[in-house]
Amino acid sequence: MSASNPAVRRLADWDAARLRDLRETHGSPLYVLDLDRVRANYRRLARAFPDADVRYAAKANTLGRVLTALGEAGVGIECASAGEVARALDALEGTVDDPGERVQYTAVNPPAGDLDTVVELWREYPGLTTTVGAADTLDRLAERGYDGRLCVRVNPGVGAGHHEKVSTGAEPKFGVPYDRATDVLADAADRGFDVVGIHAHAGSGISGDDLAAHRELVARMGDLARDAPVPLEFVDVGGGFGVPYRPEEAPLDLDAVADATREALGDVDAQLAVEPGRYLVADAGVLLTDVNTVKVTPETTVVGVDAGMTTLLRPAMYDAYHELRTLAPDAGERGTVAATVTGPICESSDVFCTDRELPAPERGDTLAVGNAGAYGYEMASHYNSRPRPATVTVEGGEATLARRRETLADVTRLEA
Ligand SMILES: *Cc1c(COP(=O)(O)O)cnc(C)c1O
Repeated sequence: MSASNPAVRRLADWDAARLRDLRETHGSPLYVLDLDRVRANYRRLARAFPDADVRYAAKANTLGRVLTALGEAGVGIECASAGEVARALDALEGTVDDPGERVQYTAVNPPAGDLDTVVELWREYPGLTTTVGAADTLDRLAERGYDGRLCVRVNPGVGAGHHEKVSTGAEPKFGVPYDRATDVLADAADRGFDVVGIHAHAGSGISGDDLAAHRELVARMGDLARDAPVPLEFVDVGGGFGVPYRPEEAPLDLDAVADATREALGDVDAQLAVEPGRYLVADAGVLLTDVNTVKVTPETTVVGVDAGMTTLLRPAMYDAYHELRTLAPDAGERGTVAATVTGPICESSDVFCTDRELPAPERGDTLAVGNAGAYGYEMASHYNSRPRPATVTVEGGEATLARRRETLADVTRLEA
């Protein structure tokens, strides 16, 4: 990969002085998202998959500026809810000719209200595609008069992923059983839906080790496409392209994934589609958080910061590793301690790391948390009556407050 567009941006590559400056201006905790890096991640992916249709999985980061930037670059948007569909259409409006054509709604056990909203939006944007993962979703769409573009999500019977909670391919919740997929496609076509594709997503966090599982998933999708009862416009093999969360981890070899994908798909006469979420945004974002408390205990040095599991849930939810960096100018001259970095939430799982060697933190330091661009703000909550943090985007050297910090009034505003 070229030097100007490296396969990964490490936490150490961010300019500490610049981050300290953003923290000074916008407070803490603060999400910082570099839109130029998001675009660069897309360019790298598009180069590896030159003939694939790329659909960004919006749930990784639905900030309007991200959706618009990717829309401008030519990306479609994969949506997991009616809310995401509405936000995607909104972000693409005025950016692309036909926003509907770029939007795919993947209905996972869809609440009635989601189907109502999406069908209403479809009347306005008839180019949008709905993906169903259960035969009875067809009935529910038909009841609402939907006969538009339809894709069937298949449970491929192979899962990949960095944690059991994100491994969806082999889980019965997602997609119609592989052996039933052909019947569901035929049934959908008989009932007048415009059947355009098949879809599978094996889970998040494909790494080099999972390439065999990925290859198997794609091959199974290829078999299904060749035997499909109607000609298919596309075969969507999902997302899950991993990023290295640990400093010593190598970046994903995208070309190897792309080669394996093409080879496994074989001679299928349909457009290949992929749905990266994390890959496009993870290393474009950092979370900045101030140190409030340094407490030396017999077991460890507890470093209390002002971000917690309500700001970035992944460590508490998935035991996810996120790199931490002290932004203090003198960090390099300090000795290190084994630090247990915790948030302010009354939960024992509210911990970013345990006994990690860090330059001895001091109260008032700002820490940067790496790879916070994906599934960070999206999973933030008001638990413990914590207002959610602000988000700043950086683009061409300019910083913009993209989403303000919440106040306590935002937390309580829905109460009667
Ligand atoms: C979450 C999801 C993705 C993206 O997963 P990443 O690991 O972020 O790439 C793609 N497709 C579907 C259907 C998803 O649910």
